[in-house]
Amino acid sequence: MAWKTLISPDLVVPGPVTQLSLDLLKERGIQGLILDLDDTLLALGQQIVNTEVVDWVARARLDFRVWIVSNNPNRTFIESIAVSLSLPYVNQAAKPSRRALRRVIEQMGLPHNQVAIVGDRLLTDILAGNRLGLLTVLVQPPGPSHIIRGNLLRAAERLLFPQS
Ligand SMILES: [Mg+2]
Repeated sequence: MAWKTLISPDLVVPGPVTQLSLDLLKERGIQGLILDLDDTLLALGQQIVNTEVVDWVARARLDFRVWIVSNNPNRTFIESIAVSLSLPYVNQAAKPSRRALRRVIEQMGLPHNQVAIVGDRLLTDILAGNRLGLLTVLVQPPGPSHIIRGNLLRAAERLLFPQS
């Protein structure tokens, strides 16, 4: 397969993961969803997912087998997100390596062509998915959680005005 084909997503969502149509995936025969974490379920640097993402994942769980597969090595962080979304997860997955993804697909018990991988990076999520014959979906990072944004602003203020 040509290099360019390997990093071309099957679907490009012009916005965050919440704009990905679950009905469209169902129409395509998809039954399993592998979700990237950083800049897919939450913006890099955020600590919790925003409510739109929580709602979208809850709907997805009704019709799909859903896993988080992240390259992020921070197990405690990923586990807190995964627990908040009631999803199984793999951290330190080393995408575009296929090893962790193969394991997850085996757990799902689905053929590769019934699994979609959703992520923000061509060279990790999309490349790995195309190499495995998954439906590959590129998304944009979601917005921050308003609560966390407030916390960050307060942290920035403390940094700028330590005496106040
Ligand atoms: Mg990512």
